[in-house]
Amino acid sequence: MKKKNEWEKMRVSFDLDEVLFVDPATHKTEDRLPFPFCKIYKERLRKGTPELIHSLQSLGYEVWVYTSSFRSESYIRNLFRCYGVKFDGIVNAKRHLAEVQSKSSRILPQKVPSRYHISLHIDDESVICSYGKEFGFDAYQLDAEDDEWKEKVIARAEEVKHKKEIQSSLQNKAR
Ligand SMILES: [Mg+2]
Repeated sequence: MKKKNEWEKMRVSFDLDEVLFVDPATHKTEDRLPFPFCKIYKERLRKGTPELIHSLQSLGYEVWVYTSSFRSESYIRNLFRCYGVKFDGIVNAKRHLAEVQSKSSRILPQKVPSRYHISLHIDDESVICSYGKEFGFDAYQLDAEDDEWKEKVIARAEEVKHKKEIQSSLQNKAR
């Protein structure tokens, strides 16, 4: 049974490695953090990450992280706080194992965004994206440097939101 307010806002999640965290040798990145933070947080953010997350949140989306890494939730939160970004939710490998995998008798993919009512997940791995159909989430595959990635992610989110709105109005009519 769906709790009221539980997913009134559509949820979008991002993978970290190769999506929000990229190699500056192959991708444009945000500036390194000032000392001493650059010694604690060595990951480099894909250029435009803070702007995109703020845009999505101001358009009314919840923005989550769903990573198969074991970086702790507080590490991720604190790193992004340095860039002025606050996520609405964070799922790391530890949380996934405890809340998703441990409740299943079969081996699940490393990420099952639909278990957290996430409608759109952005990942560099085609195998994760390919599970969308079976597990009920939409995916956007992002890997290489792309100057238009922010616009493309927003367009995909709007498309998924529109699709969900049509589905729910059809369901309401069928009642
Ligand atoms: Mg990745």
